Amino acid sequence: MNRLPLQQIVVLGATGSIGTSTLDVIARHPERFGLFALTAQVRHERMYEHCLRFAPRYAVLVDPAAADELRRRLGNAGSDTEVLCGAEALVEVASHPEVDTVMAAIVGAAGLLPTLAAVNAGKRILLANKEALVLAGGLFMQAARASGAQLLPIDSEHNAVFQSLPANYAGDPEASGVKRIMLTASGGPFRETPVDVLETVTPEQACAHPNWVMGRKISVDSASMMNKGLELIEAHWLFGVPAERIDVVVHPQSVIHSMVEYVDGSVLAQLGNPDMRTPIAHALGYPERLAAGVQSLDLFAIARLTFERPDFIRFPCLALAYAALREGGAAAAVLNAANEEAVGAFLSERLGFRRIADVIEATLERVGYLPVDTLDAVMDADRRARELARAEITTRQNR
Ligand code: NAD
Ligand code: MG
Repeated sequence: MNRLPLQQIVVLGATGSIGTSTLDVIARHPERFGLFALTAQVRHERMYEHCLRFAPRYAVLVDPAAADELRRRLGNAGSDTEVLCGAEALVEVASHPEVDTVMAAIVGAAGLLPTLAAVNAGKRILLANKEALVLAGGLFMQAARASGAQLLPIDSEHNAVFQSLPANYAGDPEASGVKRIMLTASGGPFRETPVDVLETVTPEQACAHPNWVMGRKISVDSASMMNKGLELIEAHWLFGVPAERIDVVVHPQSVIHSMVEYVDGSVLAQLGNPDMRTPIAHALGYPERLAAGVQSLDLFAIARLTFERPDFIRFPCLALAYAALREGGAAAAVLNAANEEAVGAFLSERLGFRRIADVIEATLERVGYLPVDTLDAVMDADRRARELARAEITTRQNR
């Protein structure tokens, strides 16, 4: 039998929802993949289990106390995995010369630097961390062009668009006859909730997504539809398509994961059960197809696919994201930073659900237009927006 060399993989965010699904797919194909490193912020218990099962060369925990605990327990278990700690170690493993592929599945702006390090090192990037593109899309895409890094989208919508575009698509919609992209959205748990009831919804209600099981931050983003707003910006950067050619289509069954319309009237779509192992396996195997453990789509059981226009009044975050993309400069970075702060405050019950959009809107207004042509400028905009958003949250706390 012909044996290919193992593809060496780093999973950034290995203890999360995407990280765990990635390991599930990798475990189905031990002849293809070697785990170079697994990383996480602090959850050493989950990391311990992953390390015993997958025996990566390195395990990175950002938190030093958690790293000490993991090192002690792995030592006692006789494991060969070396434990590293700190945010610099994320960058180190993501750009290590022996690594082929990096799954970027850290949540939030914290994923930017390690993901960018992997891009600069010319790795194959499996991109789940949408916030990195929202924050620094221009610089990110420029870095990928310069290094030759290949970007494969993991976000189910973008993976669907990628699969529906021509194989040689080079970021120019005109040249490929692409008229528009239709991003589908489930509408989340509050699609039909009366607006006045939204005033008092809890984090648990917001995280109870009808179709997907995900981390808490993206679950709240789905409930506010900011997730679709971030995905709009992500699609703009990944595919070079302007805001006016990206439409959002609410499709509560989450079976069509997104569509591309061509100038001849053809609409291509990718369908499947809502299971992230499909886009993960697509990107891990690309251009080959790998079994992912996903159930066959049962169209007879689903019976009906329905579509609605997005409601920008109920979901003001979506309108804010369109406005930020059109404004350009640092607006998307500010939107993202204010959203992360506001979602954190909502999850710790310091801010009402409806106030998330208010905090973002006020922060965008207070920052005003800022150009962002360097990484330092992006990081400054992120910092400034977080300070202002925290002040806005304090003002609104008791309202
Ligand atoms: P999660 O909360 O389940 O996991 C996040 C991971 O990031 C964890 O491993 C955590 O340790 C790590 N992490 C968090 N903060 C960190 C920090 N400061 N430094 C280093 N590591 C840190 O999140 P998730 O649902 O797996 O989502 C991960 C990313 O994938 C997000 O950007 C999300 O938008 C995107 N995404 C997720 C899904 C999904 O189905 N879960 C779908 C599409 C896109
Ligand atoms: Mg998505």
